[in-house]
Amino acid sequence: MIPLSSPDINEDDFQLVNEVLRSRYLASGPMTERFEKEFAERFGARHAVAVSSGTAALHLAMIAAGVSDGDFVITSPYSFVASANAILYERGIPVFVDIDPDTLTIDPQKTIEALRDLAQKRDGWRSLLPRSARNSSGALRAVLPVHLFGRTAEIREVVAAAREEGIAVIEDACEAIGATSDGVYAGRFGDAAAFGFYPNKQITTGEGGMLLTDREGWADVFRSLRNQGRSNDSATLRYERLGFNYRIDEMSAALGLSQFRRLDELLLRRKAVADRYTALLSEVDGVTPLLEVPAGRTRTWFLYTIRLAPEIDRDAVMDGLAARGIMTRPYFWPIHLQPFYAERFGFVEGDFPAAEAAGRTMLALPMAPNLSDAQIEFVCAAVAEQVVAHAV
Ligand SMILES: *Cc1c(COP(=O)(O)O)cnc(C)c1O
Repeated sequence: MIPLSSPDINEDDFQLVNEVLRSRYLASGPMTERFEKEFAERFGARHAVAVSSGTAALHLAMIAAGVSDGDFVITSPYSFVASANAILYERGIPVFVDIDPDTLTIDPQKTIEALRDLAQKRDGWRSLLPRSARNSSGALRAVLPVHLFGRTAEIREVVAAAREEGIAVIEDACEAIGATSDGVYAGRFGDAAAFGFYPNKQITTGEGGMLLTDREGWADVFRSLRNQGRSNDSATLRYERLGFNYRIDEMSAALGLSQFRRLDELLLRRKAVADRYTALLSEVDGVTPLLEVPAGRTRTWFLYTIRLAPEIDRDAVMDGLAARGIMTRPYFWPIHLQPFYAERFGFVEGDFPAAEAAGRTMLALPMAPNLSDAQIEFVCAAVAEQVVAHAV
């Protein structure tokens, strides 16, 4: 059986987690502080705040951006459901803008148009809102671009436009730790960024996440919100706002710290796996590997996703691969067509054609830094065979 992903855990990881267990300091301690400090330093940010998941990080960023009842947040429909869910936690309304079919990330020109339409309430702005929310009296609070599959979304101009309009930019960098665009890391373009460390990500804490920001006030709010809304500067138990238990525990922080110290090595090994896949799959008719990133960009590999030609029955290919012990997943079924979103907001097929086309044709293959050449070759041979078997 070849799983879809498998974290690389080494002796250093075991040791640091054991150190925590021996110390009996299991919650909110020195490992969390060290993890935050090294994370902030590596990415040149003033503040890093560790939390219990990438989703929690996105949620707290929505609060900092001021999202509240009926407010609008522009985001991508082609993502993991958590990026849009975070908007709904604060009773905001997701305004989806379709993706660029090549990069699979939010289309910058369409995003800027939507941003200006909503911020200035230009003619026809309500048509951008989901059908069931068109009479909402909210305001645009944030843009939430997603850096997908290890590459940065093209958001430089989006950020500039957002600054002009006084709108916050919250980056979902959960899939793109270490990715760069013209020397800027994913998570360093906007006002705050969320990272996630689920075991299929480039580094893991088990469950865990991180917020990155240069804004002192926001970092204070994040620290308070993750700890039930407690005041940061008093030893007395004062609660200043409605908060959550979004703290990370020390075992998770230790694992994250140890993994983070090996980030470069882990990224290189993922790249070697991806390069091997790409070399083998580029020869296969009907299979298109992810587009190479343009000059000046680096991708850090998350899952290894391929696009199948439209005439290939993707689900039959998945079944065929599963029968050979190879786990794959359709990444992602667009958020607007998830049953809950379609029902709540009245989205229908055809609303975001590029996201839907990607949703029908993309397939994630097993990806892990420790995948062997033999395993990669086995997967690629099986993909080639299944693609021929299921072309209609
Ligand atoms: C993994 C991921 C998240 C956060 O996931 P958690 O499981 O909550 O850590 C958010 N957005 C995207 C795009 C992701 O891939």
